Amino acid sequence: MLLKGGSLASLHPPALARADIRVEGDTIVARGSSLRPKAGEEVEDCRGRLILPGFVCAHTHMYSALSRGMPAPAAPPTSFPEMLRRVWWRLDEALDEEAVYYSAMVGAVEAVRTGTTTIFDHHASPNAIPGSLDIIREAFGVVGVRGVLCYEVTDRGGLRRRDAGLAENDRFLAATRADPQFRGLVGAHASFTLRDSSLAALGDLARYHRAGVHIHAAEAQDDERRTRRAHGCGIVDRIERHGLLDERAVLAHGVHLSKRDIARVTEARAWLVHNPRSNMNNAVGHAPIERFGDRAALGTDGWPADMLAELRFAHFREREQLGLRRAHPAASLLQGGQSLASEVFGVPIGPLSPGSAADLVVYNYVAPTPLTAANLPAHLVAGVQPSMLTGVMAAGRWVCRNGVPVNIDVEAVYGRARQLAAKVWRRMRG
Ligand SMILES: [Zn+2]
Repeated sequence: MLLKGGSLASLHPPALARADIRVEGDTIVARGSSLRPKAGEEVEDCRGRLILPGFVCAHTHMYSALSRGMPAPAAPPTSFPEMLRRVWWRLDEALDEEAVYYSAMVGAVEAVRTGTTTIFDHHASPNAIPGSLDIIREAFGVVGVRGVLCYEVTDRGGLRRRDAGLAENDRFLAATRADPQFRGLVGAHASFTLRDSSLAALGDLARYHRAGVHIHAAEAQDDERRTRRAHGCGIVDRIERHGLLDERAVLAHGVHLSKRDIARVTEARAWLVHNPRSNMNNAVGHAPIERFGDRAALGTDGWPADMLAELRFAHFREREQLGLRRAHPAASLLQGGQSLASEVFGVPIGPLSPGSAADLVVYNYVAPTPLTAANLPAHLVAGVQPSMLTGVMAAGRWVCRNGVPVNIDVEAVYGRARQLAAKVWRRMRG
């Protein structure tokens, strides 16, 4: 397929240039100012279009997709641990296999409609653990997105469930080692719900598969406080002690990590994922992303995987917190997600140059002011909208055209999802 005449943009380094690109299979194979169509080649006229690499959501929970609008618990939570116990852990307990499948479908549909082509999902369904990652893989595969999946290992449900979670990660990591569209990580809930023997088992799994851990780290103060009380050391100490702090690790949130701990994380070249909407919604505090360094990405932590929406929240929250002069370039977090995905898949995702993954989004964005490489982040924050998307391509396939996912019947999927959500909510009350 030949995409002709689009303005190709990338974020790091900022670049904007008009060029044609040729896609073969799941890869961009050529880029030039005037590529000639080959015989029989499909040609997409992209004149006047802005083309960006597909967005990466570096931390989320697809199972939250069926929670939208659900009734609040009878006793409203007053702290983050209460929020987990009364809302999120009741929700994941209520999921069966079909609910896992449809929540992943709905989440993936929302992702492609907003230009997100890779999703790092952190999954939990304690009553349907074995095979749950395959169910998500199947749903993502139907919609067409890439997935980096893991099962959330925790001690909150006892040893049997902990071991089933470890086994599910182990199985999925082995099954997707060479998969072009899916990879596994070693899923872990958070330091405060994991005893030492569980972290040791996670460390063994990470070493065996040469995979990173995907864990919540200091999302709320309770994680650090409870870790210190129970283990006499901090979260980063524990993660490091069990061999999990390395360049493959994905640490979500980092809201309450000390300066020293952030420095240790960045020194180890581990990834930090900022989730501003979730942080604000759970009132856990402001993440010090100005210290996160260049290995930082953006996640949505259960909110729809609309990365430009998340970017706006990151931008405004940052401005409010730090003032005008110290604002961090939030847009660099988008590029961070692409770099993280590139490392996980072992293929460049983001540069829109030969050899890169054919993951891209096409916008009909008519800029009312000059659009340059330097001011592209400002256009992304203030102007570019999902409604302007004309095409979303993941792994060389169109997955969404003009807001409509091309591989599924959205009405049918949403209809079944509504029925299942009502069932899940009933189970949560029961
Ligand atoms: Zn999370």
